[in-house]
Amino acid sequence: MKDISVFFVSLGIIAAVWLAGCSSPRTLPSKSRSPFGTVDGKEVFVFTLRNAHGMEARITNYGGIVVSLLVPDRNKNFGDVVLGYDSLASYEKKTPYFGAIVGRYANRIGKGRFTLNGTEYKLALNDGANTLHGGLKGFDKVVWDIDESTSSKEPTLALTYVSSDGEEGYPGTLTARVVYTLTDSNGLRIDYKATADKPTVVNITHHSYFNLAGSGKGDILGHELFLNAERFTPIDSGLIPTGELRKVEGTPMDFRTPTPIGARIQNQDEQLRLGRGYDHNWVLNRTGHEISLAARVTEKTSGRVMEVWTTEPGLQFYSGNFLDGTNIGKGGTVYQHRTGFCLESQHFPDSPNKPDFPSVVLNPGSTYTSTTVYKFTAQ
Ligand code: BGC
Repeated sequence: MKDISVFFVSLGIIAAVWLAGCSSPRTLPSKSRSPFGTVDGKEVFVFTLRNAHGMEARITNYGGIVVSLLVPDRNKNFGDVVLGYDSLASYEKKTPYFGAIVGRYANRIGKGRFTLNGTEYKLALNDGANTLHGGLKGFDKVVWDIDESTSSKEPTLALTYVSSDGEEGYPGTLTARVVYTLTDSNGLRIDYKATADKPTVVNITHHSYFNLAGSGKGDILGHELFLNAERFTPIDSGLIPTGELRKVEGTPMDFRTPTPIGARIQNQDEQLRLGRGYDHNWVLNRTGHEISLAARVTEKTSGRVMEVWTTEPGLQFYSGNFLDGTNIGKGGTVYQHRTGFCLESQHFPDSPNKPDFPSVVLNPGSTYTSTTVYKFTAQ
């Protein structure tokens, strides 16, 4: 009996010493789940991942949506930095892809069609004459299976989805796997994988709308943005890339020096007019395929800083131009114009129709892989 109590006292001391060693100890890493509802007859949950520093991500297997993300500011006050809803019904009813996994093909495919190995494929059109974010029922609107077999010291959520041959018009059965990890260094890491049984195209991303001051705390125009890119892909009036890779130098697209998002957004500029603000793909500076820094965003009032690291060649920076006050979000917050921004790692939009862009073709026997980390600090 005495031995047992000595054992538990020692264990307590070890745990206390370990926690004291962490920079801002609050809790042990953990993962829990609670019911969120039912869609298509399938159970939907919200998983809560928490790391040793108290950072917390709540993620649902409906669309793989990040529902909330609690991140410390410079005074170690935690705030929710993503836009979203309180209920599953709200996500089902109307969402501009808040926090979702987007696929099979992130962003637009012009005229919703492409030719692969001599066959033309016609996709579901859901954005005028074009296909946006996978079609009418993309990866953001399906219930993902939960893979409990993954084990890691850091809390993770592994989700899988099998998209059937012909779904939304895409060829081949696509087996997709997305793993969210809340890292010990306050990163939300997303690892994507996919395989197919026929040649197809794939381009999966994550669509959180961030506001580093806190969800519902005004617009994002004062956030300072750095983009590690010399070039971007100009768009036409349907927001489809023209195929050109244009230098950012001398344009409002130049974020090589940190610049407030709002500093030039009202400039008389053809690309800003076509995008109704920023809604473009930047061609990331990179050497090789290693994960590298794509973007850094700083919010001065909270001191929060978010870095985006990715293995992808492109990054869509979308300044929330279509938010118009018609989405009533968490706690009744009205999401007004430009109150959130997205940084979506990706291959370039419309690549299936742009032979000079990096290829998005996935053949049987190969595996599509992609990793992106949203990493948070405060200063
Ligand atoms: C696109 C925007 C679109 C938004 C929400 C972004 O990724 O680039 O054009 O409006 O998603 O649908």
